[in-house]
Amino acid sequence: MTNKTFILDLVPGEQLERYIVREGVSKFRTKQILEWVYKKKSDSFSQFSNLPADFRKHLEENYCLRSFTLKDKKSSKIDATVRYSFNTPDGFEVITVFLPHENRNSICLSSQIGCPIKCSFCASGKVPFKRNLTRGEILEQILQVEKDSGAVVDSILFMGMGEPLLNYDNVVSAIKSMVDPEQFGYGRRNIVLSSAGFVPQIMKLSDEKVAVRLALSLHAPDDQVREKIITGKIPYFVEDILQAGLEYGRKTKSKITIEYVLIDGVNNTQADAAA
Ligand code: SF4
Repeated sequence: MTNKTFILDLVPGEQLERYIVREGVSKFRTKQILEWVYKKKSDSFSQFSNLPADFRKHLEENYCLRSFTLKDKKSSKIDATVRYSFNTPDGFEVITVFLPHENRNSICLSSQIGCPIKCSFCASGKVPFKRNLTRGEILEQILQVEKDSGAVVDSILFMGMGEPLLNYDNVVSAIKSMVDPEQFGYGRRNIVLSSAGFVPQIMKLSDEKVAVRLALSLHAPDDQVREKIITGKIPYFVEDILQAGLEYGRKTKSKITIEYVLIDGVNNTQADAAA
């Protein structure tokens, strides 16, 4: 593992400025660094041409712009989907799925390594939870996929491995970089966060002024059926999750999506539909 500081982990407007000023460099350099990192998506300090050469050298020696190495990449046999697998410096695997389309390219981001929710139908649910991804690791997935594919990612789906609301601080910090016009500059409605339904975090998110679209992974009409499908512990009733979703939609003026995977004989009866 490298001892270098991963620059995407430093929150712009807070930590990044503190680090830069600590180096004895004028604060206005932060704006230039931000532009190279987030707007020009540069992956080498040697490209930071408007910074003094000795400062570039210092950055090279003490900071890094990427942390992953590409482990594997598999293209779907039925459509243009590409599944990326990256190695983290501490030896874990991060899965990212790229969904190119004629009019819009989407990316499905992971937020954790492993997933504690354990949905019975999901391969990620079989991977034991190891740790949360950092804000930089969440953002790096976009940069790695854009670099490899040569395409621009238009919309973000927090629907990969992990429950985003159980990695609340890092996910929200990454979203703030995504929607900041001086960083990634995504429209809020081009970001969808899918959650199994953690009520306090949904309410907290509704106050963050990021107003991304929320998708609730319910998969069941009631708690009894849901417990058969989602075997990890979610301490909230379906009714309370729905109420939190409605409140989120009201406060952020956005539509809520309900996700429901049909499992034969488990949640696809007439009674389930009626409920
Ligand atoms: S919460 Fe998402 S990633 Fe985790 S097991 Fe369920 S579907 Fe899979």
